[in-house]
Amino acid sequence: MQALIVIDVQMDFCEGGALAVPGGSEVVESINALMPEAGAVVLTQDWHPDGHSSFASQHSGKAPLETVEMDYGTQVLWPDHCIIGSEGAAFHPDLDTARADMVIRKGFRRDIDSYSAFFENDHATPTGLAGYLRERGIKELTFVGLAYDFCVAWSALDAAKLGFRVHVREALCRAIDADGSAAEARARMESAGVTLG
Ligand SMILES: [Zn+2]
Repeated sequence: MQALIVIDVQMDFCEGGALAVPGGSEVVESINALMPEAGAVVLTQDWHPDGHSSFASQHSGKAPLETVEMDYGTQVLWPDHCIIGSEGAAFHPDLDTARADMVIRKGFRRDIDSYSAFFENDHATPTGLAGYLRERGIKELTFVGLAYDFCVAWSALDAAKLGFRVHVREALCRAIDADGSAAEARARMESAGVTLG
């Protein structure tokens, strides 16, 4: 069985949001159109407490897109975004959330970020999604959503490492593309055996 994994199609990642990904809302209708043919639909939702450690505002002298060293590795800093319960954390109002079998929230621990739908940014703490998919007999995953070069790519790379067959529908993703990050993500996914297109 194949699952459609819709990454972070939330207000803060769309136009006018706190961490807007260019063209973010353009993908919503085409993602909805893919849902009926999917064996399962999983939505992810970036979901941070106030004062999350990935926010530049928590690191004096740091601006968004600068980095800090955390005990789990290098962390890119972001504007405050997707605060638990806020309007910015809500799904895009046109996304067909009724079709979702499962909504997985990530990044809810203050001291660690989670780009991937499978592991927090230490690459070790699981979100539980792999177990859910395996228990349902799902072996093939199609990823769409925001942002291509961060949460989509990290999720796809983890999924490939976990042994799923992984496809990323690039036309249904949008990238932040800071400093060539989209090309870098693409190269990493290609070498990990992720099917792109
Ligand atoms: Zn976040």
